[in-house]
Formats: sequence, structure tokens, C-alpha cells
Amino acid sequence: DPATTLLDGNAVADRIRDGLESSVGTLREVGVTPTLALVSMTESGAARTYVSMKQQACDAVGIETEIHELDPDKPAATLFDRLADLNDDPGVHGVSVQSPLAEHVDPRAAARRIAPRKDVEATHPENLGRLQAGTLRYKPPTPAGIQRLLDAYGIDPAGKRAVVIGRSETVGRPTATLLSGRGPGGDATTTLCHSRTEDLAAVTRSAELLVAAAGQPGLVDGGMLSEGVVVVDVGINRVDAGDAAAGQVVGDVDFESARGKAAAITPVPGGVGPLTVEMLLYNAVDAAGRHSGVGVDL
Ligand code: NDP
Repeated sequence: DPATTLLDGNAVADRIRDGLESSVGTLREVGVTPTLALVSMTESGAARTYVSMKQQACDAVGIETEIHELDPDKPAATLFDRLADLNDDPGVHGVSVQSPLAEHVDPRAAARRIAPRKDVEATHPENLGRLQAGTLRYKPPTPAGIQRLLDAYGIDPAGKRAVVIGRSETVGRPTATLLSGRGPGGDATTTLCHSRTEDLAAVTRSAELLVAAAGQPGLVDGGMLSEGVVVVDVGINRVDAGDAAAGQVVGDVDFESARGKAAAITPVPGGVGPLTVEMLLYNAVDAAGRHSGVGVDL
């Protein structure tokens, strides 16, 4: 449908980037260099790609990065010791631990070792609790990015029937929490679906706002949607070798059939992804401002 609005994450990310650049400038003028530590301990090529994307995005706005690439064959204590050092380092304002970690490292145990005030990915239990309590310090980047994207297009979730597919601690569940929370960007009547949901299509057809974050290409197609729905596709799935589209990245939603029903839809790539990165940077600048007692107008 040509009337379908494309929710252009790159365009919105560009505008956020401009704001961040000027906030970083304000901090630098008073001698504060916002600094983000990017920590990884993995063999995953995707993780390496994400770290370098984050690094480039930081470069673009003037945030300093420290890359800590740890040997995935070393014991978990190597990571935990490094996190302790970074917590104590006054020159580091934010710490991002890249997932996935090496298999023998428990991501929850790692999250517990990040000082909550430096936890710009919002994975520490204290920040997860604050999210529930509505006393947020840092919003988890992906859900925050989804809120920003909707806001940029004047889409208010308030009073709408929202359906989120996926209940991970970093994406699906916090997205449902924010959408169902009180106030701007929230107030939706929210349903959270997962792999044990029966008759997913019946639930998704009730959605006025659908967020797909399952990591399953083609999980949602146009037949599962109602006319006029807003579709946010968070999925990042690489198409297998052998397929005609091998190597391409696709979401969880079959874009072509979905756009026939949707009033607005994110492309993949170019939807939520760019905003996730910018919201991490936003948290890092916020952290630098808080640590140094300099008010930055974000
Ligand atoms: P996880 O694998 O941690 O969680 C996936 C969730 O989807 C689980 O809750 C799972 O249910 C649910 N699920 C899986 N299959 C189905 C199904 N057939 N029907 C209904 N629910 C299902 O993934 P993440 O949350 O970390 O990531 C989700 C996707 O988002 C991935 O593609 C990832 O690459 C992408 N992503 C994108 C980001 C961005 O910035 N755009 C950032 C982070 C992730 P159950 O709990 O029952 O197993």
C-alpha cells in the first residue's frame, strides 16, 4: 500500500545524533570527556560487528570509547575483574558488555558486576527493578529506541492495544513494560507473547501496535495483521547461505505482505537498529553528565 508510512530509523537517528553532538560539546567545554567502555568476551562475529558499530557511532558524536576485547577462552573471572576495574575508573562513565558472551560466562552474573550508575545497557538487576518501579535511571536502548521512533512519527501508544512478541530481558519484556507504563510513550493495553503463546495470529490480529522481537524470520505476515496496524519489527536475522537472499538481513515480519495492512511499518534494516545504538550513546552522555554534576540538556 503506497499510503503506508515507512518508520525511517536512520532519519530519526540522524536528528538524535545532532542533539548528542551538541551535548557532548557542552560537556567537553567544561573538561568532561564522555567515555564509554565497550567490553566483549566472545567468538561471535555478530558481537564484533556490533562493537564496531557502537564505536563508530561514538566517534561520530565525540564520545570517547575504550575497547576491551577479552579472550573468550579465559575464565569468567577475567571479565568480572575487568568490570571491577572499570567501575573504579573515574574516567569511564558508561560500561557496555556486548552479548552474546562466551558460553561459559553467565550474562546475569556479568550484569550484576556492572556498577548500576555506569550500566548504560540497563541490564543490572537494580536498573531492571527501577524499570518496573518507574524510577528509571537508564532506559534499555532497544525499547527506548522503539519509543523514540514512535514519538518521532506522532504515534502515541496511549489507549491502544499493543502486542509484543518476545519476552527477553533486554528487548521484549522491557518493551512491554515501557508500553504499559504510565505516561508519555506508554499507557497502552499491552499483551506479551512468546513461544508458548497459543494461536499467535489471533492475538496479533487484535493489535493496533505490534512489536516483533522473536528472532524468527517471517514469523508475522500480513494475514496475521489487522488493517491500520503500526508494525515495529525489531528482528535482525541473517538469511542462510543457499537462499536467494543469502547474507541479507531480514526482520521477523514479512515486509511485503505486512505493508499491505499496516498504516506504518519499520524497514529492516534501517528501523529500530540505528535507534538502539543512538539510545546507548544517549545513556552514555547522560551518565557523563550525572557523574560530573554537569547538567546536559538531552
Ligand atoms: P531472544 O532469543 O533472547 O528472545 C526471543 C523471544 O522470542 C523469546 O522470548 C521467545 O520465546 C520468543 N519467540 C521465539 N520464537 C517464537 C515464536 N515462534 N512465537 C512467539 N515467540 C517466539 O532474542 P532477543 O530478544 O535478544 O532478540 C530478538 C530479536 O531482536 C533478534 O532477532 C535480535 O537479533 C533482534 N535484536 C534487535 C535489536 C535492534 O536494535 N533492532 C537489538 C537486540 C536484538 P521463549 O521465551 O518462550 O523462548
